[in-house]
Amino acid sequence: MRGAGLDAIASKIRDASDVFLFTHEFADGDALGSVVALALYLRAMGKSVHAFVPGQIQSIYRFLATDELLNTMPAVQAEAHIGASHVTCLSADAADIDRLGEWKSLFLAGAEHLVIDHHDTNTGFGEVFAIDGSASSCCEVLFDLFNIIDPRLINAKIASALYTGLVADTGSFQYANTRALSLVHAAQLVELGASPDEISRCIYESRPYGSVRLMAASVAASRLMYGGQVVVSYVTRTMLEDSGALDEDTEGITNELRRIAGTRAVVLFKEASDGSVKVSFRGKYGFDVKRIATAFGGGGHLLAAGCTITADLCAAEVLVLAELDRYLGPSRI
Ligand code: AMP
Ligand code: MN
Ligand code: MN
Repeated sequence: MRGAGLDAIASKIRDASDVFLFTHEFADGDALGSVVALALYLRAMGKSVHAFVPGQIQSIYRFLATDELLNTMPAVQAEAHIGASHVTCLSADAADIDRLGEWKSLFLAGAEHLVIDHHDTNTGFGEVFAIDGSASSCCEVLFDLFNIIDPRLINAKIASALYTGLVADTGSFQYANTRALSLVHAAQLVELGASPDEISRCIYESRPYGSVRLMAASVAASRLMYGGQVVVSYVTRTMLEDSGALDEDTEGITNELRRIAGTRAVVLFKEASDGSVKVSFRGKYGFDVKRIATAFGGGGHLLAAGCTITADLCAAEVLVLAELDRYLGPSRI
């Protein structure tokens, strides 16, 4: 654990009355599970809470009541409120401040800044932070926090949101970040009311048709490189349009690509609507993808990392492949 730790965060939260929650753009199951769990838990503590999630929210996570709990306060009102009151800003699952997207300036306008995360690359951008790089997910860190503050407040809805984050970031307890304690925490969350089958059905079997078609297109467009060690693929604006998928519906493609035998790394280039390219990396057998993402100002974990490159897709690919050459040699065939 880096930073002041969870006891310090717990004490700041106990003292707060007005809390704004933040997480990273292209919010995944851990990001959304974290802000939903925090919103419900802080409300149960009697706090006034508002959550600000950048971009659009993936439809598969609507079961967490994201429509009712997140982005309920318009930006103009939020800015006026934060200027006039003592607001505690809390960021969860965001590896750096730029990941807060369009809500970064609102976060900065707060009276206090707390950061809870599990990304090794997080340098701790708030006054008080708790970063547990050994936790599978931010939701796992939050479960510890809620147990410190008052375990009796963890109801079935909060347990479900936390369980969602664990499932999403561990790929259903398959990835190397699944430690024994993650399974213990998962079991405790099930005891508290999280339903594994219902949550898996929502996350993995309720995808919009366009999103599944996009995954198929991206798998079809993939190329094996570096003697089959790396699988590279793309999500272009045309592929999004042709498949009928939305920008926020690309989660899961990297998991599909990493199934390929013999691969040690997945690199997925996604053309964003603003003209930049978001690159997602996944590693296998200990292949460190974090070092590649951080070379481009991104971050993440050893085996799952990402970055945003301000260039067109071809130029971004040239840059990333040059970086891969450093670790895998010059033969890209
Ligand atoms: P993704 O490929 O978007 O699922 O991200 C994989 C992991 O890397 C997640 O833990 C992200 O939070 C992290 N990550 C992705 N993009 C960035 C970025 N630009 N900066 C820092 N961390 C990132
Ligand atoms: Mn995340
Ligand atoms: Mn996470």
